[in-house]
Amino acid sequence: MSAPGRLRIVGLGPGGDAWITPEVSRLIANATDLVGYAPYLGRLPPKPGQTRHQTGNRVEMERARHALRLVEDGRRVVLVSSGDPGVFAMAAAVFEAIEEGEPGWRDIDVAVSPGISAMQAAAARIGAPLGHDFCAISLSDNRKPWSLVERRLAAAANADFVIALYNPASTARTGRIHDAFALLRGLKGASTPVVFARGVGREEEHIFVETLASADPGRADMSTLIIVGSSETRIVPRRSGTPFVYTPRGKAAR
Ligand code: SAH
Repeated sequence: MSAPGRLRIVGLGPGGDAWITPEVSRLIANATDLVGYAPYLGRLPPKPGQTRHQTGNRVEMERARHALRLVEDGRRVVLVSSGDPGVFAMAAAVFEAIEEGEPGWRDIDVAVSPGISAMQAAAARIGAPLGHDFCAISLSDNRKPWSLVERRLAAAANADFVIALYNPASTARTGRIHDAFALLRGLKGASTPVVFARGVGREEEHIFVETLASADPGRADMSTLIIVGSSETRIVPRRSGTPFVYTPRGKAAR
């Protein structure tokens, strides 16, 4: 029998080594095998003796099963995601593969090691827009019908949540972000603050603040996280630089 393998599902944060947790760094350093989407593996310096298994972005279940099979061979496998692995990323794919896969997979030594999600990093850069109740919605309709995205956007707007929008754009569906903004404009105030946070933590980081009325959703690309405020969210203009954006913690807290 070979040594027992293990699987660690880690998040690299949105960009920059300073936002990778020490736990994740240690797990990566001790891995025999790294599995992940090529651009994420590209963020990690190569290490002699460590095998890399690069995959495309659209084969999540295959990648999860590949990682589980490596563990069966006794490997110490680290599966990498950007941000947090549990937020629109690989952790859920692994548990789905375990649930649907061979019965023995349920006893594999598997654990998730968290990372900073894009919404947390974006919020930190601009102030505290997620300071009160918020939700996160992915605009990708790869795994769900667009009608469900619309239903959730409308519910979030009607309940006055702050909304973090992931996956606002891709080459396959450039119109979706415009549809989403049209829907939100019908349900929320024109002066609602909107934050576009592009490439947070990376060299190309660019953050700008608009209102729902003024925002051009076409400026969002695949590396952009959008935060749409609630009716309470405030913009605090400053003489220089980007304004602060925050959502107060509710009247009872004052
Ligand atoms: N697991 C990741 C999310 C993966 S979905 C996390 O927790 O952050 C991919 C989407 O995340 C992108 O389309 C974008 O909306 C957002 N995103 C990831 N990295 C980002 C970054 N550095 N800056 C802004 N948005 C980012």
